[in-house]
Amino acid sequence: MMRWYCFSLCLTLFVSAGHARQDKSDLQAVAAISQITEGRVTATISFLASDELAGRATASPEFDIAAAYVASRFRGAGLVGGADGSFYHETSKRMVQIPSAPFTITNADNGSIQHFGLLACSSEPFKYSGELIALDLSADLPTAGLSGVVGGVYQGDAKGPRLISQVLRIAGKLSEAGAKMLLLGVAPDSELIQLAQQSRDKPRPESPQNRFAIPVLLVPASSLDSKSLRLEVPATHALDKPMRNVIGMLAGTDPELSKEAILFSAHLDHLGVRTGVGDVIYNGADDDASGVTAVVTLADAFGAMPRPKRTLLFMAFWGEESGLLGSKQFVTNPSWPLEKIVANINIEMIGRPEPGANGKIWMTGWQESNLGSLMNSASILRGTEIFEHPSFSSRLYRASDNWSFAEKGVIAHSFSAGSLHADYHQPDDEWERLEIPHMTRVIQGLFYASQPLVQGTATPISSKKAK
Ligand SMILES: [Zn+2]
Repeated sequence: MMRWYCFSLCLTLFVSAGHARQDKSDLQAVAAISQITEGRVTATISFLASDELAGRATASPEFDIAAAYVASRFRGAGLVGGADGSFYHETSKRMVQIPSAPFTITNADNGSIQHFGLLACSSEPFKYSGELIALDLSADLPTAGLSGVVGGVYQGDAKGPRLISQVLRIAGKLSEAGAKMLLLGVAPDSELIQLAQQSRDKPRPESPQNRFAIPVLLVPASSLDSKSLRLEVPATHALDKPMRNVIGMLAGTDPELSKEAILFSAHLDHLGVRTGVGDVIYNGADDDASGVTAVVTLADAFGAMPRPKRTLLFMAFWGEESGLLGSKQFVTNPSWPLEKIVANINIEMIGRPEPGANGKIWMTGWQESNLGSLMNSASILRGTEIFEHPSFSSRLYRASDNWSFAEKGVIAHSFSAGSLHADYHQPDDEWERLEIPHMTRVIQGLFYASQPLVQGTATPISSKKAK
């Protein structure tokens, strides 16, 4: 009730102020907002985050289904494809998989040495017969003089991505010092063993986050007692797979301003399925089916109003969870000139408000440009605040696809309306746990907030340029 009261009040103010042109586009925006409904938001997100889409892992068949769905929604909203007319911005990506064939390693007497499987192997097979060099991995590692296979126990207590990056760093340093392989001693319940299993089960996009400099075999600490060993490590399986960003466009009407674009984006991929029992599907409802739902419903709303003056681009990326790969692919080979992207409004995790922040939006990298305050001045009139989050705004500026664009000099930020809740990157990130009325308000807020941008009455500037 309050919202509609506010809309009509603001309209009255605009009319009485005599901004005739502003009134017209404002009225059109009010009419188009009827496209962004709780029903439509529910329909979209309950499909994208369904178990049937199996966590939308990059390179999975379910990701391709999700991409086809987003393309179909773009068509339905009246969008056309990108520069070449296609709704897909494609590339071929090298996928790697650890061979799943049984793997044996023996000591000098041909006695079998126990292990938990390979965490990483190289693009070439590796054969070795010789001494095992024992090292304390928690001490300073040698910078030269190693050759052959090194063994040591993992001493840290890191979890998740930090754990992987620590092992990557150790493997990298050992490789620089001349080592050819690492036997890493771990506990039988180590998270690394589960990760090794997943790497055997399915191909993963090759990225800096999974490119180990040398093969890594996980072993119980007791296996490191062996003085010598004999082994043959197979090469990784590699295959090239087409990867798709989904892209749709609404061409602007102004002869000059239409050469400039506002880009709305979100990442379509999530973490897929884990091994084990119980709920194994990472549905990624908030992260980031909520952002993709915003992108497609914004396309619906913009498609339902007369064409704005600037061109609008709508994108859904692959590979964000693997290191912003899809957006990096786009900025490396853009189908729209990057210097003609006026702003990238990337949308991340808008489904679960923080206490007291219902319907409010925060922007990452607030200090980097005036985009947040510019958009807030348009949305606050409608009762939606866009603000600088005291801890997340700077911390998460480089954590999503906006960063790929910002690195290239585009004014690019992520817009979020939640927190890093307990279900973040867990199988319980289900759509039933989202607050749909809040999320709908946020999408409507973003729609209003971007009106001055799409109509060309406002242009953000970067803080660097302003100085
Ligand atoms: Zn995300």
